[in-house]
Amino acid sequence: MLMRHSGRAYAPLRSRRPKVSLLVRRIRSNSGETDLKHKPKLGQNFLVDAAACAAIADALGDVSGRTVVEIGPGKGAITGILARRTGRLVAIELDRVLAARLRERFAGTAPVVSDRPSIETDRPLVVSDRPTVEVIEADVLEVDLAVLAREGEKLAVVGNLPYYITSDILLRLFHFHGAISRAVVMVQREVADRVAASPGTRDYGLLSATAQLYARVEKVMTLPPSAFSPPPEVHSTVLRLTMRPRFAELGVEAEGFIGFLKAGFAQKRKTLAKNLRAAGFDAGRVAAAMEAAGIAAMARAEEIELERMAGLWRGLKG
Ligand code: SAM
Repeated sequence: MLMRHSGRAYAPLRSRRPKVSLLVRRIRSNSGETDLKHKPKLGQNFLVDAAACAAIADALGDVSGRTVVEIGPGKGAITGILARRTGRLVAIELDRVLAARLRERFAGTAPVVSDRPSIETDRPLVVSDRPTVEVIEADVLEVDLAVLAREGEKLAVVGNLPYYITSDILLRLFHFHGAISRAVVMVQREVADRVAASPGTRDYGLLSATAQLYARVEKVMTLPPSAFSPPPEVHSTVLRLTMRPRFAELGVEAEGFIGFLKAGFAQKRKTLAKNLRAAGFDAGRVAAAMEAAGIAAMARAEEIELERMAGLWRGLKG
């Protein structure tokens, strides 16, 4: 059974990429329903390694009775596995032709529900081996993910992400952290290295700090280009992000602290103090608050762990 979503799910929170509608229009006008040529502009490198698909699905853990959201299902390599394991799978695909193919492939399927409730959700457990997939043809950056969760439920998110918008998608997942329990995402290896990096290492920066504020980050596995068709030019790494926001523990509020981090990390070559002064913070207050937080005057933001950054922000706010 195909399900239609209310318009709310498509409502853009904020238009980050005004060019997307143009892109969609161009894809639509260029592609007939039979055109299955891959579209490099949409980051279409399809996973062809069956063991990797299974490992990605496994990394999500037990999803029986849960809603899984797949970002960029493509030809359905991961979709087919997960649809048999989960209560409900919502697949968000921008490519019109691929979305239509997925609808065809999973058409007429419906969950079979047992009387036994799921331990986790206390709802009836879906035990069907007949998959149920809801396909949303949309730009994932414009979908309100929170609307997809059923009441009292947190989503499991999965995706071999289109690499041209990886950071935007990760930020989107963090934006909806309250509606998501876990995300397993494939990203370019270098991006994974940045997301998972520790302070003081070459790869640590604003993306690492932001990700680690919202989630526990684990690297699951790295795949060579040959695992995909067509092969990309880069290696890819699967990350598992378990949402556990740290704002309360660090004694900071999300919006203000993230704004402060952006200022502190603004220019990689500059010291933290210099970046903060450039953002309008008073030089004397910055020096005093850094000393009180135990941060060296010439330190760069990339060297400092989140606990001391939070201490500095609390000191600066007074
Ligand atoms: N999951 C499939 C796999 O592993 O074989 C495909 C992964 S491919 C790297 C990325 C997929 O994301 C493509 O199917 C592409 O059409 C889709 N995509 C690209 N941009 C998107 C967007 N803004 N919103 C939703 N899907 C998008």
